[in-house]
Amino acid sequence: MKIVIGSIQCEGNSLTPVRTTFADFDYAAGEAMYEKVQVMDLLREHDCEIIPTIYAHALPGGPVVKEDFLRLAGELVEAIPSEKIDGIWLYLHGAMYVEEIGSGDTYLLREVRKKVGDEVPISVAMDFHADNTDEIVELANCITGFRTAPHCDHRETQLRAMRLLFRCIEEKILPKPQLARADVVICGDAVQTALEPLKSIMEMAEEFERAIPGMLCVQVFNGQPWIDEPYMGPSIVATHAFDEKVALDCAKRLADRFYAVRHDFKFLIEAREPGEAVRLAMTAPQKQVFLSDSGDNTTAGAAGDNAYMINRLKEAGAKSVLVAGIADAAACEACYRARLGDVLTLTVGGSLDPASESAVITGKLVYRGDMLSYTGGNAGPSATLDCGDMTVVVTKNRAAMCRPDIFASIHLDYSRFKIVVVKLGYLFPELAAKAERSILVFTPGSSTERLADMHLKRIRRPMFPLDDNFRISGGEP
Ligand SMILES: [Zn+2]
Repeated sequence: MKIVIGSIQCEGNSLTPVRTTFADFDYAAGEAMYEKVQVMDLLREHDCEIIPTIYAHALPGGPVVKEDFLRLAGELVEAIPSEKIDGIWLYLHGAMYVEEIGSGDTYLLREVRKKVGDEVPISVAMDFHADNTDEIVELANCITGFRTAPHCDHRETQLRAMRLLFRCIEEKILPKPQLARADVVICGDAVQTALEPLKSIMEMAEEFERAIPGMLCVQVFNGQPWIDEPYMGPSIVATHAFDEKVALDCAKRLADRFYAVRHDFKFLIEAREPGEAVRLAMTAPQKQVFLSDSGDNTTAGAAGDNAYMINRLKEAGAKSVLVAGIADAAACEACYRARLGDVLTLTVGGSLDPASESAVITGKLVYRGDMLSYTGGNAGPSATLDCGDMTVVVTKNRAAMCRPDIFASIHLDYSRFKIVVVKLGYLFPELAAKAERSILVFTPGSSTERLADMHLKRIRRPMFPLDDNFRISGGEP
């Protein structure tokens, strides 16, 4: 079997003014991409002829600059040979947002389909937070995605998509996935697959996938709310080997179920207003409390340059605080011009998003060095300043300090601080496992958890929670 593999990912946020560029992508072309994807063993076991294209993954961010995206998409399509191939495996995010284009995933699939025609199966693996367009579903033959949030099944998802592709090739089928929408927008941090009400929906999807004869895949996508487009929101995609009606019925039943339990989605972690969160963290009996600056969450595409929490914690007189971290290229460069041990006064924050606050900090430069990135690559230079009651990590680029190994990469022992501020929503599993207590803080910003604060203009209506009680039928499956 001749199999083409490719992967371009950047979870988009159309609400931030910060653009994502080619330089923001962890990029590998040709055989260099083999170590970046997790399907190689499976391909080799099946004795496949592997045709690599490109792998390009970026930290979630604002719209990708059009020409940079076109370069990546062009390279991927160009690398697909003109001679006969048996199938295409793509690993996408599903909520990539491109200047003037909108859904980058849709554009890419359209170009791939144009190149190979309708007879070559395309199987796609995506993120649980994919905002599927109708066209994505029309262009692909199999669609699957993560089944955990927080995500810990990247590998299984990639493998499932590849096995689905093998089935299409071996059984000579070209399935047409079917999509149903729930018209319910639930911010990511109120949706965790291991907890109700989503847990039952995930189980129901798995049961349909297992029990319905000929069903290849039943996938629940939550979507993510920071894309102001009509296709934003949860979708269920069911893929049957040959019966589109059965697939559509199945997707609709799950979408109805999602709508029926809409009032049961609550913040499943402790979530507080900023003032309350700061007070609770300072007086907490626990040794350590994580505060998630959720409005400036870089893993949801925000700039990561808001000094809002630095200012609130300073005003409150908080002690033993670690701010991990804040993006400010000029401040970081100033640290690289200084010597270790120097005391510097710097303005940090507000350099990327005009809506972000800045803060003046004075501290001793105690470390500088490159930081490990979100995707396992190099996030670029960082500097750590000890400002007495507060230690601040300043990064040259936008970064996400979402795992212990990222802290370790800059020799930072976060366990010695009482309060750790991170630019995340819910903590990533690796960090959550180490956190005694974590509070999601309702801070302002382009990744705000509050739908009303997003000022969305282009989403379809009616949509819960902006509207309610608009479905007449549906409910209990
Ligand atoms: Zn996701």
